[in-house]
Amino acid sequence: LASRELKQQDTVVSIGSVRIGGGRIALIAGPCSVESREQIMETARTVRDAGAVMLRGGAYKPRTSPYSFQGLGSEGLKYLREAGDAYGLPVVSEIVSPQHVDDMLAFVDMFQIGARNMQNFELLKAVGQTGMPVLLKRGLSARIEEWLMAAEYLMAHGTDNVVLCERGIRTFETYTRNSLDLSSIPVVKKLSHLPVIVDPSHATGIRENVMPMAMAGVSAGADGLMVEVHPDPDHAKSDGAQSLYPQQFEKLARDIEALCPVL
Ligand code: PEP
Ligand code: MN
Repeated sequence: LASRELKQQDTVVSIGSVRIGGGRIALIAGPCSVESREQIMETARTVRDAGAVMLRGGAYKPRTSPYSFQGLGSEGLKYLREAGDAYGLPVVSEIVSPQHVDDMLAFVDMFQIGARNMQNFELLKAVGQTGMPVLLKRGLSARIEEWLMAAEYLMAHGTDNVVLCERGIRTFETYTRNSLDLSSIPVVKKLSHLPVIVDPSHATGIRENVMPMAMAGVSAGADGLMVEVHPDPDHAKSDGAQSLYPQQFEKLARDIEALCPVL
């Protein structure tokens, strides 16, 4: 179902009035985690003003350490929904358990499947069955074939609206958090009709590398970007080092617009 052989024409995924694929570069932005009502409201306002079309924010966080901030859970989803509604931005948030499907359906416009759960097949089935749009991240060490098979799971169970997200893969390199596999973009575009976006934040782990990798992703053919932005990155509860300051996101949005003007 995900393959180009079955469908030659590029898929355009609609999330409310937002379109991903088929032209305009979609900017999805927001904090790694929803931390408070004020934090997500302020972030939503700044990213909307800069040109973002969707708001991201984690409520259930898959953290490496059980002692790290785990997210606000359903309280976070409520604040995310409120911020999205206040600023006219559809919202996306990560789902980590099939048990959360019903609760999350009331709050999000798109489900995110995180890198750590890309091959959690029961989760893929449960999310696919909702028919909702899904942002499917590439697994930490997933081959392109495995990533596309994960998309196939979602589609086989009932959703047509899958957006793939390249977020870097684990390599021997330690200067960056992950290695951004830019070559996956043209490869996936050839194999599949689904739109592909790049997450330069998790791909690099370092704020100063986000901008060049965002530009590179778009140059390689990505249909959009998902970028972490925080009003006060130095005090973020997760992923502060890779989160852009609001002014940096404004510059990124301007530079992407200059690279790919809306026709
Ligand atoms: C995230 O987007 O907040 C996240 C946890 O990303 P990934 O699953 O790509 O690590
Ligand atoms: Mn993050």
